[in-house]
Amino acid sequence: MAEQILVVEDEAAVARGLQYALLQEGWGVTLARSGEEALAKIEDRAPDLAILDVRLPGMSGFDLCREIRRSRTIPILMLTARVEEIDKVLGLELGADDYMSKPFSVRELVSRVRALLRRAYGTLASTDGRQSQLHAGNLRIDLERRRVFKGERRIDLTATEFELLAYLARHPGIVFTRDQLLRQVWDYDNFVGDEKTVNVHIRHLREKIEDQPDDPAHIITVRGVGYKFAG
Ligand code: CA
Repeated sequence: MAEQILVVEDEAAVARGLQYALLQEGWGVTLARSGEEALAKIEDRAPDLAILDVRLPGMSGFDLCREIRRSRTIPILMLTARVEEIDKVLGLELGADDYMSKPFSVRELVSRVRALLRRAYGTLASTDGRQSQLHAGNLRIDLERRRVFKGERRIDLTATEFELLAYLARHPGIVFTRDQLLRQVWDYDNFVGDEKTVNVHIRHLREKIEDQPDDPAHIITVRGVGYKFAG
C-alpha cells in the first residue's frame, strides 16, 4: 500500500505544489492547514510521515512536532523559512528527523522524503544477511522488528535515532565522522549536511539508551573525529 504523507501548510500554493509532487511519486497525501487540523487527521488517517511548516496559524509547527512526538515515531520533516528556525529545529527537543529551508527544491524534498521513508520502513536493516539482534550490555537491538530494549523495557526511538543506533552498533569500535554518518544513516549522497544534526540526534539517543547520558557507555565521542559504538 502506498505510504500516506501528511502535509501541514497554510499557504495553499505551497501545499498544492507539494501535494502534486508527492502524488506523482505514488504516495498518498493528506493536507492540513493548521496544527489543530493536523492532529485530528493524524488520529484519523495514521500517516506514515509528516511534513510540517514551522509557520502556521494558531499552534506553531514546533508545538505540533512536539505534540506528534508524544504519541508517534513517524518521520517528521520541518519546513523552515529563517535561520533562527533552523537553529530551533536543531537545538530543541523537538524530535524532528530532518528539515528543509524555504524556498526548497521539490526534487530535493522528494528525495529526502524517500530517504526518510526507506529509513523508517525499509528493509535495509533486515535483508543484508547480518544477525537480526545485537546485544550490548543491557541493550538489545532487534534489527528485524526495529525495536530497542533496555533490560526488559522497550525504548521508543524515532526512525532516525533507530537507524543511527543500528548503524553504529553494527560496526562496534569503528569511529565514524559526522559527515560519514550523514551519508550512511541519512542517505544523503549529495547533501551538504549540517553536522549539528548528527550531534542533536546522538544527544537524544543517549538520553534514551544510556544510564548516564553525560558519561555514555554505548555511544562514545571520539574528540576531533566523531563517534563510535563501544565494542
Ligand atoms: Ca506557513
